[in-house]
Amino acid sequence: MTLANGQPYLAIPGPSVIPDRVQRAMHRGSPNIYEGGLLDLVESLWPDLRTLAGTSGHVAAWIGNGHAGWEAATANLFSRGEKALVLATGQFGHGWANHARQLGVEVDVLDFGRQAPADPGQVEAALRADREGRIKAVLTTHVDTATTIRNDIPALRRAIDAAGHPALFAVDCIASLGCDEFRMDQWGVDVTVAACQKGLMTPPGLAFVWFTEAARQRCGEGDLASPYWRWGPRIPGASDEFWHLWDGTAPTAHLYGLREALTMLVHEEGLEAVWHRHEVLAGAVWAAFDAWGRGNPQIAMNVADPDWRGRSVTAARFGAPQATRLREWCEHRAGVTLGIGLGMATPEDPASDGALRVAHMGHVNAHMTLGALAVMDAGLKALDLPHGAGALEAAAKVVAAGA
Ligand SMILES: *Cc1c(COP(=O)(O)O)cnc(C)c1O
Repeated sequence: MTLANGQPYLAIPGPSVIPDRVQRAMHRGSPNIYEGGLLDLVESLWPDLRTLAGTSGHVAAWIGNGHAGWEAATANLFSRGEKALVLATGQFGHGWANHARQLGVEVDVLDFGRQAPADPGQVEAALRADREGRIKAVLTTHVDTATTIRNDIPALRRAIDAAGHPALFAVDCIASLGCDEFRMDQWGVDVTVAACQKGLMTPPGLAFVWFTEAARQRCGEGDLASPYWRWGPRIPGASDEFWHLWDGTAPTAHLYGLREALTMLVHEEGLEAVWHRHEVLAGAVWAAFDAWGRGNPQIAMNVADPDWRGRSVTAARFGAPQATRLREWCEHRAGVTLGIGLGMATPEDPASDGALRVAHMGHVNAHMTLGALAVMDAGLKALDLPHGAGALEAAAKVVAAGA
């Protein structure tokens, strides 16, 4: 039997739940792309996108997903043969490194493993060792969606400064923007990358890069960016022609959707409240895992220290193949789809059947997160998997204190 019929909940870390309002805003015929309302709407997006990233710098958008955002940032940051230092704390850090390498960048990876954030001391030492100043930029993820490790971006900036190294600092915020506190200018980030399908609650299809004027000048006319990816022509106002801003036809439906999502995040709820909501919902998930784990040492969150955990998604281990069994039960019996373990394979568990991820990202509220946890609790019982008691009580207390 199943109790899955009813409104399903896709609790995977992207694409995230799309608000009905965003869906309705996108459901319309093609507008004029040469003049009129669409042009005004796009003008109104830029200030909100800057607010979201906490910068007064440039922002540019491309039709594409997160990988497109990586490509846009990397291709403009580097010329062929220039060097990147990538701080990897999971599959997405390594993914960006591989992507950059394939573009023709020389890449050094500092691998911090899968359970702890990048260590500023090691970053400082690596930069000090670069006596010829060959490293053009340091690249890292804010939250790595695979391990769900959150890096301490201000501390990493301080490490670059302490080394006295001129490297630019570029941060992938694809999984964290609009969920986790991020302040590009205040934290000294030169280049920020994001996409619209996670915290920004819009179907996949828009990639963004924010960059400072100093970064633009330092990178000049790099030779990696083919015409579509050059950031110069994408700067709003760089051309009078709306057509040129998008290097062709604008992503019309997405622009209406994004306008609605930004209205919800920036103007209605407000960023501080958005961050608080994610903080509390993350805390509820963590409290449940702590309780389950007290009855079964095989159940544990991937990241031990709460300071090191992303506020938008939580990776956990259950001992293979229990995570896969639990995910399947939750989806097929109760209508909640949890995230698969990503980049979490071990020699004993090559298929990652012992890892899963619970997203608490974007358009989520207390009833959705508590519902997902209650379904997981029911799944543990139905499958007769050992677990500690009191998870839902603990999660409810976190919500009670934070609401
Ligand atoms: C999702 C994600 C990506 C990749 O985005 P796609 O849209 O799947 O290309 C890159 N980095 C991080 C941190 C992500 O969460």
